[in-house]
Amino acid sequence: MKPLKRAWAEVSLDRLKRNVDIIRGMCSAGTDIMAVVKADAYGHGYERVCSCLARECGVKYFAVSNLDEAVAVREFCPDEDILILGYTPPEYAEEIRQHNIIQGIVSTEYAQALSANAHGVVRCHVKIDTGMGRIGLRCGDPRECAEEISRLCAVKNLSVEGIYTHFASADSSLPEDIAYTDAQEKYILDTYDILAETGIRLPHLHFMNSAAICCRNNSRSTLARAGIVMYGLHPDISIALPEGIQPVMELKAVISQVKTVDKGSCISYGRTFSAPEKMRIATVTIGYADGYSRLLSSKGEMLLRGKRCRILGRVCMDQLMIDASDVPDAEPGDVVTLIGCDGEECITADELASVYGTIGYEVVCGISKRVPRIYSRYQEEIL
Ligand SMILES: *Cc1c(COP(=O)(O)O)cnc(C)c1O
Repeated sequence: MKPLKRAWAEVSLDRLKRNVDIIRGMCSAGTDIMAVVKADAYGHGYERVCSCLARECGVKYFAVSNLDEAVAVREFCPDEDILILGYTPPEYAEEIRQHNIIQGIVSTEYAQALSANAHGVVRCHVKIDTGMGRIGLRCGDPRECAEEISRLCAVKNLSVEGIYTHFASADSSLPEDIAYTDAQEKYILDTYDILAETGIRLPHLHFMNSAAICCRNNSRSTLARAGIVMYGLHPDISIALPEGIQPVMELKAVISQVKTVDKGSCISYGRTFSAPEKMRIATVTIGYADGYSRLLSSKGEMLLRGKRCRILGRVCMDQLMIDASDVPDAEPGDVVTLIGCDGEECITADELASVYGTIGYEVVCGISKRVPRIYSRYQEEIL
Protein backbone atom coordinates (compact mmCIF):
# COMPACT_ATOMS: atom_id res chain seq x y z
CA MET A 1 0.00 0.00 0.00
CA LYS A 2 1.37 3.40 -0.85
CA PRO A 3 1.87 5.84 2.02
CA LEU A 4 -1.09 7.98 2.95
CA LYS A 5 -0.77 11.60 1.89
CA ARG A 6 -1.48 13.01 5.34
CA ALA A 7 1.73 13.60 7.30
CA TRP A 8 5.03 12.23 6.07
CA ALA A 9 8.80 12.72 6.29
CA GLU A 10 10.83 12.91 3.10
CA VAL A 11 14.31 11.53 3.57
CA SER A 12 16.82 12.35 0.86
CA LEU A 13 19.36 9.55 0.53
CA ASP A 14 21.18 11.69 -2.03
CA ARG A 15 21.76 14.36 0.59
CA LEU A 16 22.80 11.72 3.11
CA LYS A 17 25.35 10.43 0.63
CA ARG A 18 26.63 13.93 -0.10
CA ASN A 19 26.92 14.72 3.62
CA VAL A 20 28.95 11.53 4.15
CA ASP A 21 31.26 12.48 1.28
CA ILE A 22 31.79 15.94 2.78
CA ILE A 23 32.49 14.55 6.25
CA ARG A 24 34.90 12.02 4.79
CA GLY A 25 36.67 14.83 2.95
CA MET A 26 37.12 16.74 6.19
CA CYS A 27 38.59 13.84 8.16
CA SER A 28 42.20 12.75 7.98
CA ALA A 29 43.25 9.84 5.81
CA GLY A 30 43.60 7.60 8.88
CA THR A 31 40.10 8.35 10.17
CA ASP A 32 37.16 6.21 9.04
CA ILE A 33 33.55 7.22 9.43
CA MET A 34 31.53 5.44 12.09
CA ALA A 35 27.91 6.23 11.24
CA VAL A 36 25.83 6.74 14.35
CA VAL A 37 22.45 5.21 13.53
CA LYS A 38 20.96 4.89 17.01
CA ALA A 39 17.30 5.83 17.60
CA ASP A 40 16.18 4.63 14.15
CA ALA A 41 18.95 6.65 12.49
CA TYR A 42 17.90 9.80 14.36
CA GLY A 43 14.33 9.23 13.21
CA HIS A 44 15.26 8.91 9.52
CA GLY A 45 14.53 5.15 9.36
CA TYR A 46 17.48 2.83 9.95
CA GLU A 47 16.71 0.27 7.22
CA ARG A 48 17.12 2.55 4.24
CA VAL A 49 19.73 4.74 5.92
CA CYS A 50 21.91 1.77 6.86
CA SER A 51 21.69 0.09 3.48
CA CYS A 52 22.50 3.37 1.73
CA LEU A 53 25.46 3.99 4.05
CA ALA A 54 26.84 0.46 3.74
CA ARG A 55 26.17 -0.19 0.06
CA GLU A 56 26.34 3.23 -1.56
CA CYS A 57 28.58 5.26 0.77
CA GLY A 58 31.07 2.54 1.67
CA VAL A 59 30.67 3.06 5.41
CA LYS A 60 32.29 0.18 7.30
CA TYR A 61 31.55 1.14 10.92
CA PHE A 62 28.19 1.69 12.61
CA ALA A 63 27.25 2.70 16.13
CA VAL A 64 23.96 2.11 17.95
CA SER A 65 22.71 2.56 21.50
CA ASN A 66 21.63 -0.96 22.43
CA LEU A 67 21.50 -4.62 21.47
CA ASP A 68 18.05 -4.50 19.85
CA GLU A 69 19.26 -1.75 17.54
CA ALA A 70 22.48 -3.63 16.83
CA VAL A 71 20.64 -6.81 15.82
CA ALA A 72 18.24 -4.81 13.64
CA VAL A 73 21.13 -2.99 11.92
CA ARG A 74 23.00 -6.28 11.40
CA GLU A 75 20.34 -7.37 8.92
CA PHE A 76 21.22 -4.43 6.66
CA CYS A 77 24.95 -4.40 7.40
CA PRO A 78 26.02 -8.06 7.34
CA ASP A 79 29.76 -7.45 7.12
CA GLU A 80 30.27 -4.11 8.85
CA ASP A 81 31.44 -3.45 12.40
CA ILE A 82 28.58 -2.50 14.73
CA LEU A 83 29.44 -0.97 18.09
CA ILE A 84 26.96 -0.72 20.96
CA LEU A 85 27.82 2.61 22.59
CA GLY A 86 25.65 2.05 25.65
CA TYR A 87 24.91 -0.63 28.22
CA THR A 88 23.83 -4.17 27.44
CA PRO A 89 22.95 -6.37 30.42
CA PRO A 90 25.82 -8.90 30.69
CA GLU A 91 23.46 -11.87 30.45
CA TYR A 92 23.14 -11.02 26.73
CA ALA A 93 26.83 -11.79 26.12
CA GLU A 94 25.99 -14.71 23.84
CA GLU A 95 23.57 -12.68 21.70
CA ILE A 96 26.25 -10.01 21.30
CA ARG A 97 28.79 -12.62 20.28
CA GLN A 98 26.53 -14.58 17.95
CA HIS A 99 25.70 -11.45 15.96
CA ASN A 100 29.37 -10.44 15.90
CA ILE A 101 28.55 -7.13 17.61
CA ILE A 102 31.13 -5.01 19.44
CA GLN A 103 30.15 -4.04 22.97
CA GLY A 104 31.21 -0.87 24.79
CA ILE A 105 32.70 -1.79 28.17
CA VAL A 106 31.53 0.60 30.89
CA SER A 107 33.54 -0.68 33.87
CA THR A 108 35.83 -3.46 35.06
CA GLU A 109 32.96 -5.17 36.94
CA TYR A 110 30.92 -5.06 33.76
CA ALA A 111 33.77 -6.61 31.78
CA GLN A 112 33.98 -9.47 34.26
CA ALA A 113 30.23 -10.08 34.22
CA LEU A 114 30.21 -10.09 30.41
CA SER A 115 33.13 -12.50 30.36
CA ALA A 116 31.40 -14.81 32.83
CA ASN A 117 28.30 -14.98 30.63
CA ALA A 118 30.09 -15.60 27.35
CA HIS A 119 30.88 -19.01 25.88
CA GLY A 120 33.37 -17.57 23.40
CA VAL A 121 35.09 -14.33 22.53
CA VAL A 122 33.08 -11.09 22.69
CA ARG A 123 34.56 -8.16 20.79
CA CYS A 124 34.66 -4.88 22.69
CA HIS A 125 35.82 -1.29 22.87
CA VAL A 126 36.51 0.11 26.34
CA LYS A 127 34.67 3.34 27.12
CA ILE A 128 36.59 5.81 29.26
CA ASP A 129 34.75 8.51 31.17
CA THR A 130 37.09 11.45 30.70
CA GLY A 131 34.58 14.04 31.88
CA MET A 132 31.11 13.33 30.54
CA GLY A 133 30.16 11.62 33.81
CA ARG A 134 27.86 9.16 32.08
CA ILE A 135 29.37 5.73 31.43
CA GLY A 136 32.92 4.47 31.22
CA LEU A 137 35.99 3.66 33.28
CA ARG A 138 36.75 6.45 35.69
CA CYS A 139 40.35 6.38 36.87
CA GLY A 140 42.67 8.76 38.69
CA ASP A 141 44.91 9.53 35.74
CA PRO A 142 45.80 8.14 32.31
CA ARG A 143 48.45 5.86 33.82
CA GLU A 144 45.97 4.17 36.15
CA CYS A 145 43.51 4.03 33.29
CA ALA A 146 46.06 2.30 31.05
CA GLU A 147 46.82 -0.20 33.80
CA GLU A 148 43.14 -0.99 34.21
CA ILE A 149 42.69 -1.43 30.46
CA SER A 150 45.71 -3.68 30.23
CA ARG A 151 44.10 -5.88 32.89
CA LEU A 152 40.87 -5.87 30.83
CA CYS A 153 42.86 -7.04 27.83
CA ALA A 154 43.68 -10.19 29.77
CA VAL A 155 40.10 -10.98 30.76
CA LYS A 156 38.95 -14.32 29.39
CA ASN A 157 36.45 -14.23 26.52
CA LEU A 158 36.96 -10.53 25.82
CA SER A 159 38.78 -9.14 22.82
CA VAL A 160 39.57 -5.45 23.38
CA GLU A 161 39.83 -3.79 19.98
CA GLY A 162 39.81 -0.16 20.98
CA ILE A 163 39.15 2.58 23.49
CA TYR A 164 36.86 5.57 23.18
CA THR A 165 35.46 8.52 25.06
CA HIS A 166 32.70 11.05 24.61
CA PHE A 167 33.02 14.84 24.81
CA ALA A 168 30.67 16.77 27.05
CA SER A 169 30.91 20.20 25.46
CA ALA A 170 32.72 20.00 22.14
CA ASP A 171 29.81 21.99 20.68
CA SER A 172 30.73 25.14 22.59
CA SER A 173 33.20 27.85 21.63
CA LEU A 174 33.56 29.26 25.15
CA PRO A 175 37.23 29.18 26.21
CA GLU A 176 36.49 27.17 29.37
CA ASP A 177 34.58 24.57 27.34
CA ILE A 178 37.36 24.32 24.78
CA ALA A 179 39.86 23.81 27.62
CA TYR A 180 37.61 21.11 29.08
CA THR A 181 37.43 19.28 25.77
CA ASP A 182 41.19 19.67 25.29
CA ALA A 183 41.68 17.97 28.67
CA GLN A 184 39.29 15.13 27.77
CA GLU A 185 41.13 14.60 24.49
CA LYS A 186 44.56 14.69 26.14
CA TYR A 187 43.40 12.16 28.73
CA ILE A 188 42.42 9.53 26.18
CA LEU A 189 45.45 10.17 23.97
CA ASP A 190 47.77 9.81 26.97
CA THR A 191 45.99 6.63 28.02
CA TYR A 192 46.40 5.19 24.55
CA ASP A 193 50.08 6.16 24.38
CA ILE A 194 50.90 4.65 27.77
CA LEU A 195 49.19 1.43 26.70
CA ALA A 196 51.19 1.46 23.48
CA GLU A 197 54.45 1.89 25.44
CA THR A 198 53.62 -1.30 27.31
CA GLY A 199 53.16 -3.08 23.98
CA ILE A 200 49.35 -2.90 23.76
CA ARG A 201 48.63 -1.18 20.45
CA LEU A 202 44.87 -1.23 20.02
CA PRO A 203 43.49 -0.89 16.49
CA HIS A 204 40.98 1.77 17.55
CA LEU A 205 41.05 5.01 19.51
CA HIS A 206 38.07 7.30 18.95
CA PHE A 207 36.61 10.43 20.46
CA MET A 208 35.25 12.63 17.67
CA ASN A 209 31.51 13.31 17.57
CA SER A 210 29.83 15.70 15.11
CA ALA A 211 30.91 18.82 16.98
CA ALA A 212 34.52 17.64 17.01
CA ILE A 213 34.35 16.75 13.32
CA CYS A 214 33.21 20.31 12.61
CA CYS A 215 35.51 22.21 14.98
CA ARG A 216 38.41 20.14 16.22
CA ASN A 217 39.25 17.43 13.78
CA ASN A 218 42.06 15.27 15.12
CA SER A 219 43.92 12.77 12.93
CA ARG A 220 44.58 10.49 15.89
CA SER A 221 40.92 9.48 16.12
CA THR A 222 40.74 6.29 14.04
CA LEU A 223 36.96 6.70 13.79
CA ALA A 224 34.79 9.79 13.50
CA ARG A 225 31.46 9.00 15.16
CA ALA A 226 29.27 11.06 12.89
CA GLY A 227 25.73 11.54 14.12
CA ILE A 228 23.77 14.74 13.72
CA VAL A 229 26.03 16.34 11.10
CA MET A 230 25.52 13.34 8.82
CA TYR A 231 21.79 14.07 8.96
CA GLY A 232 22.55 17.68 8.07
CA LEU A 233 21.77 19.36 11.39
CA HIS A 234 23.87 21.43 13.79
CA PRO A 235 25.44 19.90 16.91
CA ASP A 236 24.75 23.36 18.32
CA ILE A 237 23.34 26.28 16.39
CA SER A 238 26.45 28.30 17.20
CA ILE A 239 28.55 25.87 15.15
CA ALA A 240 28.82 26.53 11.42
CA LEU A 241 28.14 23.41 9.40
CA PRO A 242 30.72 22.37 6.83
CA GLU A 243 30.13 23.84 3.38
CA GLY A 244 27.55 21.84 1.43
CA ILE A 245 26.03 19.89 4.32
CA GLN A 246 22.24 19.84 3.97
CA PRO A 247 19.37 18.54 6.10
CA VAL A 248 18.32 15.03 5.07
CA MET A 249 14.75 15.10 6.41
CA GLU A 250 11.76 17.22 5.49
CA LEU A 251 8.38 17.01 7.22
CA LYS A 252 5.15 17.62 5.35
CA ALA A 253 1.40 17.46 5.79
CA VAL A 254 -1.65 18.72 3.90
CA ILE A 255 -4.46 21.20 4.35
CA SER A 256 -7.77 19.47 5.15
CA GLN A 257 -10.00 22.52 5.26
CA VAL A 258 -9.85 26.29 4.77
CA LYS A 259 -12.41 28.59 6.32
CA THR A 260 -13.00 32.26 6.95
CA VAL A 261 -13.93 33.07 10.54
CA ASP A 262 -15.35 36.26 12.03
CA LYS A 263 -13.64 38.50 14.53
CA GLY A 264 -13.84 36.93 18.00
CA SER A 265 -13.97 33.31 16.76
CA CYS A 266 -12.05 30.88 18.97
CA ILE A 267 -9.56 28.39 17.58
CA SER A 268 -8.60 25.02 19.14
CA TYR A 269 -8.69 23.52 22.64
CA GLY A 270 -8.83 25.85 25.58
CA ARG A 271 -9.78 28.76 23.32
CA THR A 272 -6.35 30.31 23.82
CA PHE A 273 -6.66 32.11 20.48
CA SER A 274 -9.56 34.26 19.38
CA ALA A 275 -9.49 36.04 16.03
CA PRO A 276 -8.75 39.77 16.40
CA GLU A 277 -10.42 40.33 13.04
CA LYS A 278 -11.95 38.35 10.19
CA MET A 279 -9.36 35.68 9.24
CA ARG A 280 -8.66 32.77 6.93
CA ILE A 281 -7.85 29.65 8.90
CA ALA A 282 -6.38 26.46 7.44
CA THR A 283 -6.46 23.13 9.24
CA VAL A 284 -3.35 20.94 8.86
CA THR A 285 -3.24 17.13 9.10
CA ILE A 286 -0.49 16.74 11.71
CA GLY A 287 -0.41 16.91 15.49
CA TYR A 288 1.57 16.02 18.56
CA ALA A 289 0.93 12.28 18.08
CA ASP A 290 3.01 12.64 14.92
CA GLY A 291 5.83 14.12 17.00
CA TYR A 292 5.07 17.73 16.17
CA SER A 293 5.33 19.06 19.70
CA ARG A 294 2.40 20.58 21.54
CA LEU A 295 4.96 23.05 22.91
CA LEU A 296 4.75 24.69 19.47
CA SER A 297 1.16 25.79 20.22
CA SER A 298 0.74 29.49 19.28
CA LYS A 299 4.46 29.62 18.46
CA GLY A 300 5.44 27.47 15.50
CA GLU A 301 5.34 28.43 11.86
CA MET A 302 5.09 26.39 8.67
CA LEU A 303 5.18 27.01 4.96
CA LEU A 304 2.13 27.10 2.72
CA ARG A 305 2.55 28.09 -0.93
CA GLY A 306 5.93 29.57 -0.06
CA LYS A 307 4.60 31.74 2.78
CA ARG A 308 5.17 31.42 6.52
CA CYS A 309 1.98 30.78 8.45
CA ARG A 310 1.82 30.76 12.24
CA ILE A 311 0.03 28.19 14.41
CA LEU A 312 -3.14 29.50 15.99
CA GLY A 313 -3.92 28.13 19.45
CA ARG A 314 -3.06 24.66 20.63
CA VAL A 315 -1.57 21.84 18.61
CA CYS A 316 -4.04 18.91 18.85
CA MET A 317 -3.19 15.21 18.77
CA ASP A 318 -3.74 14.80 15.02
CA GLN A 319 -4.38 18.29 13.65
CA LEU A 320 -3.56 21.94 14.09
CA MET A 321 -4.72 25.27 12.68
CA ILE A 322 -2.70 28.00 10.98
CA ASP A 323 -3.30 31.56 9.91
CA ALA A 324 -3.71 31.45 6.13
CA SER A 325 -4.86 35.05 5.79
CA ASP A 326 -1.85 35.87 3.59
CA VAL A 327 -2.43 32.86 1.34
CA PRO A 328 -5.80 33.65 -0.26
CA ASP A 329 -5.57 30.85 -2.83
CA ALA A 330 -4.86 28.09 -0.24
CA GLU A 331 -7.12 25.08 -0.63
CA PRO A 332 -7.63 21.57 0.77
CA GLY A 333 -4.96 19.18 -0.45
CA ASP A 334 -2.21 21.82 -0.49
CA VAL A 335 1.08 20.52 0.87
CA VAL A 336 2.32 22.23 4.04
CA THR A 337 6.05 22.14 4.80
CA LEU A 338 6.77 21.93 8.53
CA ILE A 339 10.47 21.17 8.07
CA GLY A 340 12.12 21.93 4.75
CA CYS A 341 11.91 24.54 2.01
CA ASP A 342 9.04 25.85 -0.09
CA GLY A 343 10.05 28.49 -2.61
CA GLU A 344 12.43 30.95 -0.99
CA GLU A 345 11.45 30.09 2.57
CA CYS A 346 13.00 27.32 4.67
CA ILE A 347 12.37 26.03 8.18
CA THR A 348 15.00 23.68 9.60
CA ALA A 349 14.60 21.21 12.44
CA ASP A 350 17.16 23.35 14.28
CA GLU A 351 14.96 26.44 13.90
CA LEU A 352 11.88 24.54 15.03
CA ALA A 353 13.82 23.25 18.03
CA SER A 354 14.85 26.73 19.09
CA VAL A 355 11.19 27.86 19.07
CA TYR A 356 10.38 25.51 21.94
CA GLY A 357 13.70 25.30 23.70
CA THR A 358 15.15 22.03 22.49
CA ILE A 359 17.69 20.84 19.92
CA GLY A 360 17.31 19.57 16.36
CA TYR A 361 18.26 16.07 17.58
CA GLU A 362 15.07 15.84 19.64
CA VAL A 363 12.90 17.15 16.82
CA VAL A 364 13.99 14.52 14.28
CA CYS A 365 14.16 11.65 16.80
CA GLY A 366 10.69 12.60 17.99
CA ILE A 367 8.87 12.28 14.65
CA SER A 368 6.62 9.38 15.55
CA LYS A 369 6.15 5.96 14.00
CA ARG A 370 2.81 7.07 12.56
CA VAL A 371 4.64 9.28 10.08
CA PRO A 372 5.80 7.26 7.07
CA ARG A 373 9.34 7.94 5.89
CA ILE A 374 9.45 8.42 2.12
CA TYR A 375 12.88 8.04 0.52
CA SER A 376 14.05 10.28 -2.29
CA ARG A 377 13.88 7.64 -4.97
CA TYR A 378 10.34 6.72 -4.06
CA GLN A 379 8.87 10.17 -3.58
CA GLU A 380 6.90 9.98 -6.80
CA GLU A 381 4.75 7.28 -5.15
CA ILE A 382 3.19 9.88 -2.91
CA LEU A 383 3.85 13.28 -4.49
C1 LIG B 1 25.11 9.83 20.06
C2 LIG B 1 26.56 9.68 20.21
C3 LIG B 1 27.43 10.16 19.22
C4 LIG B 1 26.97 11.01 18.06
O1 LIG B 1 26.77 12.34 18.51
P1 LIG B 1 26.49 13.50 17.46
O2 LIG B 1 26.54 14.74 18.28
O3 LIG B 1 25.12 13.25 16.92
O4 LIG B 1 27.54 13.40 16.43
C5 LIG B 1 28.78 9.87 19.34
N1 LIG B 1 29.24 9.17 20.39
C6 LIG B 1 28.43 8.73 21.38
C7 LIG B 1 29.03 7.97 22.52
C8 LIG B 1 27.08 8.97 21.33
O5 LIG B 1 26.29 8.54 22.32
